[in-house]
Amino acid sequence: MTPEPIAIDTDVLVIGSGAAGMYAAIEAARNGAHVLLADRSLIGRGGATVMAQMTVACALGEETPDTWQDHYADTIAAGRGLCDKALAQLLCEDAPDCIRELDHWGVGWARKDGHITATMAPGHDRPRCVYVDFINTGPAVSKTLRTAMARNPSIRKAGDLCIVDLIVSDGEVTGAVAYHLATGAPVVIAAKATVLATGGLTRLYRRNSASTNMGGDGYALALRAGATLIDMEFVQFFPIGHLAPRLVGMDPIMWDPFRYKLGGRLLNGRKEEFTSRYGSDEDGKYVLTRDLATYAIIKEVEAGRGSPHGGAYLSFEHCSTAALRAAFGPVIDRLAENHIDLTRMPVEVAPIAHYHMGGVKADADMASDVPGLYVAGEVVGGANGANRLSGNAITEALVFGRRAGRSAAARAKRMVQSVIAPQNAAAALDLIRADTKPQPRNNTAAMVAHLQAVMADHVGPIRTGAKLSKAFNEISALELGERPSGHAAAFDLERLEWFDLRNMLMVAAAVTITALARCESRGAHQREDFPETLPQWQGHRRVRLLRGQLDISRGPAAEFVS
Ligand SMILES: Cc1cc2nc3c(=O)[nH]c(=O)nc-3n(C[C@H](O)[C@H](O)[C@H](O)COP(=O)(O)OP(=O)(O)OC[C@H]3O[C@@H](n4cnc5c(N)ncnc54)[C@H](O)[C@@H]3O)c2cc1C
Repeated sequence: MTPEPIAIDTDVLVIGSGAAGMYAAIEAARNGAHVLLADRSLIGRGGATVMAQMTVACALGEETPDTWQDHYADTIAAGRGLCDKALAQLLCEDAPDCIRELDHWGVGWARKDGHITATMAPGHDRPRCVYVDFINTGPAVSKTLRTAMARNPSIRKAGDLCIVDLIVSDGEVTGAVAYHLATGAPVVIAAKATVLATGGLTRLYRRNSASTNMGGDGYALALRAGATLIDMEFVQFFPIGHLAPRLVGMDPIMWDPFRYKLGGRLLNGRKEEFTSRYGSDEDGKYVLTRDLATYAIIKEVEAGRGSPHGGAYLSFEHCSTAALRAAFGPVIDRLAENHIDLTRMPVEVAPIAHYHMGGVKADADMASDVPGLYVAGEVVGGANGANRLSGNAITEALVFGRRAGRSAAARAKRMVQSVIAPQNAAAALDLIRADTKPQPRNNTAAMVAHLQAVMADHVGPIRTGAKLSKAFNEISALELGERPSGHAAAFDLERLEWFDLRNMLMVAAAVTITALARCESRGAHQREDFPETLPQWQGHRRVRLLRGQLDISRGPAAEFVS
């Protein structure tokens, strides 16, 4: 018998419980809305936020004088002429307020002499990045927001709830269809306003710093609902992701804060400093932005001067044991458990897929171009242009989350109860209920691995038209089938992977075709066949889903002026 869906009504539905989703839920609730916060994982523990270990950029100016305008200037410069200025301004202007609110809620920002202290990070012109000491920033932010949510009875939380599609009625988003991962139960949520806060897409790549929940669901949900995406070609690779020796139980991008503190040296396979070959004067310092450092390491490896596992060395051998202990704190013991002694050996590092600059197009109220749909956090496109500054991602999650929550609550106040016409949820419910055992089974795990290999090998940081075309053909050739196989009424990993792949294939295609269309090099998008940055390309590529096909267009002329 076909199970009836569980029906839920709410003022505001927030999808995703990273920093963006949790702040959105808190802000919507304190503006009078009843909120349902849904996440496919455990609440507040599923995405990038809880994994982030380093810093949050914000012009607090407690130690060194600073203004949001200075932060904005650095953000715009790092974005290589492509930042959405309204979003970048919102990010920088509202950051101090959000950071102080988290401080008030007890996050525990590191302090010196009673003042919140800030560290230097590449691309910032002064120490501007706050942190919770010893790589605890993300977990502390997450815990603080979870605790703040727990104080508000207007926020209901539903973990293990995977949103499969947004519901669109008369051109407006009126809720979502989900399934409960543990039982397979279908769920229909009616909402007066919906906030999409599903994070990024780096699971598309073989070597990534992500959790498995970051396959780009939000971009695909938005496309199918009729929203516009921008800048999808700009995937950020983090230059010094851990490569070797084996490091168990630690974040692959954990080296960065220690590099800030101690001036870790980046060396090629011959143990020479090399970034000056690529136009940087950072030797001995640490100022190179992520796009340039990524490029330098890849080029050094291609020239045959890589480290044994195909990256570069990161060395702290010039530091004393005492200096290492002071900077690394308890982390030094966890490294020792992994047989890593930094006084005697370098580690190997290499670029790793880390963050997505592109995403859903939004205005400064965080409204997408589909009424009823708001966006927050990494799923938003444009704020960081072609290259993101260190620390700006958690900041945008907090700032955009708060703004989206406020906007969603305001819409909910204006709306009468949203009613879902059964036909608008039917297609998604049909997929969720499909129990298609007789169909030949796809090996979904092998398809995920193949897609990740295609993206890593052909749509990485350094691209050519030929590689991108090959990738697009390979992605298009991956046949998922019309309906999921597996059991509809139980937890089934293959079934979940089918739903994941449905989104991943669409999002991978969007990244690839926009990369193919951009015939220049800019920030995180480096084309070997078009090495110059060209003024005529200083604008956003937009992607929409038209009659089931991805369609790329240029933004209006106003978006093309510097
Ligand atoms: C290892 C690592 C370290 C980082 N370090 C830093 C740092 O030091 N500083 C910095 O500024 N940035 C850092 N970043 C980037 C930053 O953490 C993220 O950009 C930011 O946390 C994103 O927040 P978010 O709320 O948008 O998304 P996330 O925190 O990723 O949360 C998204 C949530 O959406 C849920 N979700 C996804 N799809 C669905 C669906 N279909 N249905 C229901 N729920 C769904 C996920 O389960 C997840 O819980 C780091 C990222 C990583 C991976």
